[in-house]
This record gives sequence, C-alpha cells and structure tokens, in this order.
Amino acid sequence: MKIDLSIKNTAESKLIFEKSKPDKEGVFLPERQFANLDFSKLIPAELQRKEPGNLPEITEPELIRHFVNLSKKNFSVDTHFYPLGSCTMKYNPKIHEEIAALDGFSWIHPTQTEDQTQGILQVFYELGRALCELTWMSEFSLQPAAGAHGELCGMMLTRAYHESRGEGKRNLVLVPDSSHGTNPASAAQYGYQVVQILSDARGRVDLKALGEAMNDRVACLMLTNPNTLGLFESDILKIRELVHQKGALLYYDGANLNALLGAVRPGDMGFDIVHLNLHKTFTTPHGGGGPGAGPVGVTKALAPFLPKPVIVRKADGTYGWDHARPQSIGKIRSFFGNAGILIRAYVYIRMLGLEGLRRVSHDAVLNANYLRKKLSTAYVNPHNEYCMHEFVLSTSHLESKHIQAGDIGKRLLDYGIHAPTVHFPLVVKEALMIEPTETESKETLDTFVEVMLKILKEAEETPELVRTAPHTMPIGRPDEVQAARKPILSYRDYQRDQSQVVSS
Ligand SMILES: *Cc1c(COP(=O)(O)O)cnc(C)c1O
Repeated sequence: MKIDLSIKNTAESKLIFEKSKPDKEGVFLPERQFANLDFSKLIPAELQRKEPGNLPEITEPELIRHFVNLSKKNFSVDTHFYPLGSCTMKYNPKIHEEIAALDGFSWIHPTQTEDQTQGILQVFYELGRALCELTWMSEFSLQPAAGAHGELCGMMLTRAYHESRGEGKRNLVLVPDSSHGTNPASAAQYGYQVVQILSDARGRVDLKALGEAMNDRVACLMLTNPNTLGLFESDILKIRELVHQKGALLYYDGANLNALLGAVRPGDMGFDIVHLNLHKTFTTPHGGGGPGAGPVGVTKALAPFLPKPVIVRKADGTYGWDHARPQSIGKIRSFFGNAGILIRAYVYIRMLGLEGLRRVSHDAVLNANYLRKKLSTAYVNPHNEYCMHEFVLSTSHLESKHIQAGDIGKRLLDYGIHAPTVHFPLVVKEALMIEPTETESKETLDTFVEVMLKILKEAEETPELVRTAPHTMPIGRPDEVQAARKPILSYRDYQRDQSQVVSS
C-alpha cells in the first residue's frame, strides 16, 4: 500500500536528491593527508565500493535551506504544546543538554577502567540512590533502555524470584483492562499467559474480579498508579493484600509517576518491582525511537536477581561494578544503559531536589484538573472526578456527526497544538487522553481550552472541516499502521515506494 505523504510540491519541499545537479559543490574536503597510503590494499576487497556513493550534489545554501525547512515541518515539544496522555511529554530543560555534552561525559568510553570513570560512576550510583528514595525500593538497575524494556526485565525478575522459591509453575500475569499495551505484550513475550482484569464503574481495578482471578498460578499483577484514566487506585492496599496473600508479586508500571513525586512512593503502596520512564517523568528527550531509559528498581527480596553488573560504592568511597551476583538474570543491555539519558535525569533531580519534585507533581495535577474542569461539560467525561496528572474525555457525543476522537486530534494540529492521545485507554469509547504537564503556563492552557471549544463548535456546524483535517500540515492522514511498520526514512526507501506504486 502507498503511504500518502501529500507533501505540497513546492521548490522548498522538493527532496534533496531531486535538487541535485552534477558538479554543484557545497563542501570542500580536506587535502588528503595520507598520500603515501594505498587504501585499495588496506581495505579488504569485499568492503570496497564498486560504484561511487549516490550522494546529492548541491550548494551549501540549498543544503541549509533543505534541512531548516524540514525541521520547520516538525511538531515537537520545543515548538508546540503537547498534551499527550500517559506518555508524559514535558519540556526538556536545555541545561541537561549542556551538562550531558561536557567533555568529561561525552568523551569517555564504556570499556574504560573504573579508576578512569569515577565521575560517571558516581552519577550512576547517586541516580540509583535517588530513584530508590523516590520509589522506596532497595536497589535499581539502570540498564533497561525504555519502559517496555524495563517491563521485560521485570518479567525476568519475576520468574527468577519464583523459580528460586520452587514456584516456577506460576505462569499467569494479570493486567487491568486500562493497562498500556506494552504490559500484556511484555508478559506474553516472556512466555506468560496474560489474564485481563476488568475495571469497575469507578474506572478502578474491580476488586471482586481480581479476587476471583488470584490463585497460586499467578506470578504477578502489573499495575500503573494512577492508572491510565488518571485516577488513583485508592484500593491499592487491598490490591496488595489480595496479590501478596497468594504469593504473587506486584509490578509497578512507573509511566505515571509524574503525579506522585514526593507524595506517595510505590514501595509504600506495596509494589515489589518498579520501572520508571526517565524520558517521561524525569525530562529526558522522548520520542522518535531515540534512546530512552527505563530503570528497574526492586525490594530487598528481589535485589539478588537484578541485571548485572550492579554499581556499588566501596568501603574506600570509590565506585565500581559488582559482577559477583550469582542469582542475577544477567545482562539485558550492552554496557550500562543509555548514559547520556541517565545524566540528564540526574541533573533534573539534583536541580529540583525533593521539594522541587513534589512541586512538579503538585502543579501537574493542578494543571490537569484545571483543564478537566474547563472541558468536562462541553465534552463527555465518563469519570468526572478529581483526577491526577491526566484525564480522559470522550467524543462519543459526536458520533451522529461521524466525527471520531482522532478527527479532533487532527484538527488541533491546524491550531498549532499536538493531538492528545486518542482511542486509548480502550475502556473509554472515543477517548481523548489529556495530560498538560506542570511545565505549561495558564495562558497555554487557556488557549488549549479555547481551541477545544472552537473545534467542538466546528464539529456541530461544519463537521466536514473537522473530518478532513488537518488542512495546514505537510502530511495529512498517513496510513498509521504502514507508517509504523514500513517507515520511509531514506531517499532509497522513497524511490522504492514510488516505483512500487507505479508498477502496481
Ligand atoms: C509509555 C508507557 C509505557 C511504555 O514505555 P516506553 O518507554 O514507551 O517503552 C508503559 N506503560 C505506560 C502506562 C506508558 O504510558
């Protein structure tokens, strides 16, 4: 199937290879420094290029304009308001970039010895300790590269724990129906059978359904709190009891920790394993498939199973790696994790301190409730009560106009606002999941409300305008499945795609 890029064919949007003309020059290569070396002998024959590289020939101004214009087509948290729920998309303070780029961090190599890397080891160690304090876990591994990777790590820890107690027969993982798709996927990926627990009318885990599902085959319950409806699972202590009574573990999906920093700790709620998404709560860059970080923390009982090596502070005050962990699940990532991302999160935590972090969550909850109050009468809110850092509206009342939640999201783009998460969580029909984060001003929030109400009016009066949005974007409505499964990321891919369209 063709992916419709619908890029308007202006000179500016022509692809760089299409602008290429033989003998145009935009760069001057340095004089060859090793005139006496014969590269045809130094480089193995099978690695030598047979034909010249297919590089565009273009002048410097054309090149600069090409990339600047491309960058202007981007929607990003640095250019637009991004009220995307569950995946906290907050502003990334630029000081993080400066510090992560310091020579001492950016020029070290993971194979350097401990005595040459004491600085970064200290950063890793202190970050791990800070995360322990914030979550009330005993120890953290910084290796996992994303939330989903942390979940997989958590499943491995769960099995290692049960097997060590002779309970390897536990083969079920419970997930609520409001859970993020990665939860059941991670459990299934590691060979667990997934059992869905229904929500009750209040949008919380149905205790009766949970009680009925609990038995001695259950390995763990995966839960995010607040859940993806932005509601605090107020029965969490009863949930803990139901789960622990049967010898199962409680896994905390930390993607929503932005609501609770410095207020409630997963450890206090009874969780045994925790993953955090540093690229959500702790303001490291997010999206585009780039590096993330999903550190995993555990209680004391599970610490022996953590991935190795584990960072330790030795008796003499220096830092090092502890490889002597006989019960460890092993390494789950090359080297020690995404160092640059971990540094950014560390800077964030050190700059704010506990009081600052508490304020972050306080303001995130305040901002979410401000929007909820302003929008929940015009739109449908099936769970209209005090929310945490996010809330979920529904556009089901626009069904008669043949308008879906996704259409509202597309129309928002025309007003310079990124779409909220649409059609998730699945427990709400036509869901619009809104998370403003703490970093947005009242003016931005008020503009958002104004635009949301304006779009609602358009939906009533000129539904076609909303149904066919966006009208101002370089890309309209790509086939989302194909765009994810078969992304066109190079000119070669693009040419191949075009030729397939012609031939089919
Ligand atoms: C984002 C998210 C995840 C997955 O995290 P990634 O870092 O994207 O892999 C899991 N659960 C919830 C609730 C999330 O919002």
